[in-house]
Amino acid sequence: MIPYGKQSISQTDIDAVVEVLKSDWLTQGPKVPEFETSVTNYCKAEFGVAVNSATSALHIACLALEVGSNDIVWTSPISFVASANCALYCGATVDFVDIDLDTGNMSVNELEKKLILAKQNNCLPKVVIPVHLAGQSCDMKAIHQLATHYGVKIIEDASHAIGGKYLDKPIGCCEFSDICVFSFHPVKIITSAEGGMAVTNNQELAKRLRKLRSHGITSDPTEMTEPSHGPWYYQQVELGFNYRMTDLHAALGISQLSKVDEFVNQRHFLAQIYDTHLDLNLIRPLQQNNTCYSAYHLYIVQLTDSDIEQHKNVITQLRAAGIIGHLHYIPIHLQPYYKAMGFSAGDFPNAEKYYQRAITLPLHPTLQDHEVHLVINTLHQILN
Ligand SMILES: *Cc1c(COP(=O)(O)O)cnc(C)c1O
Repeated sequence: MIPYGKQSISQTDIDAVVEVLKSDWLTQGPKVPEFETSVTNYCKAEFGVAVNSATSALHIACLALEVGSNDIVWTSPISFVASANCALYCGATVDFVDIDLDTGNMSVNELEKKLILAKQNNCLPKVVIPVHLAGQSCDMKAIHQLATHYGVKIIEDASHAIGGKYLDKPIGCCEFSDICVFSFHPVKIITSAEGGMAVTNNQELAKRLRKLRSHGITSDPTEMTEPSHGPWYYQQVELGFNYRMTDLHAALGISQLSKVDEFVNQRHFLAQIYDTHLDLNLIRPLQQNNTCYSAYHLYIVQLTDSDIEQHKNVITQLRAAGIIGHLHYIPIHLQPYYKAMGFSAGDFPNAEKYYQRAITLPLHPTLQDHEVHLVINTLHQILN
């Protein structure tokens, strides 16, 4: 079987983890801050807070921005459910901004329209969470301009996007956001097994993220409400979680990060083979090369209108041929849990259209050239 995504683990990665196993620290020790510094150096942000998943990072990012039960959060319907669930964890209300069909990313036009309406109805969101689908940045400059104008905070869900660039700067530099979140799940660009990170240029937010990661506990005397009782003393000053990353995971993350450019180059190389040899009536992923360098987490093609009835059949037949074609994503608002909250088919037409025609083809750094050609030939057989 050819999977749609897969990690690439070397002996160096294995050695890095084994070394930690033999050390004094298993859970959050010296490797976690080292990983945080490596990531923030790489993406040119000031502060990094490593946690046990991107889902946890999204949750505490919302909390750090003070999302609560009277607040509204908007995200993209074409994403993994975690991009929306994080707001529900805080008791907030979730709504979606429809996508642009060609990139699958949040539409700036739709965002603007929705903001104008929300302002009139006095129901502006507190936070908007754009998702860099497949590793290509959203139009962050435009989103930031709108968000600033309407007083809305921004969390970038860059789970797909470490190693990508926007306007010649690394995704994660937070030039156009308050907080940016990465995932290090094995199918993503680099992995720490499970793991995630929130990066920011705001020191106060970083402090809050750190507290929330570990039970809301601080050992910083300036944040305490009474003098220290002694050298054992710590204070819980708010309600946090155990979202800590372990040193084992961080060591793997550090080792993987040293290969991020290599991985992304290889993804581009393989995507180029698809681009050149997929000679079919398919919509290829639009690359906005003037502003974006994608991390190419996913290679998503779209069927044209005339082939739309074939959609399920194409994915089924690919799988029958040993190729795991996939679908990113089922629109979040059409999940039963979200439908029970009142969303329904027709709410976000572009997202729903995307769902009817998108197919994710295998793309990962261990994929071989001949496997890409096998995928291409199989697709040619199915669609001709
Ligand atoms: C993978 C993913 C997440 C969740 O990442 P975890 O590290 O598995 O929690 C969130 N958002 C998007 C867009 C993702 O692809």
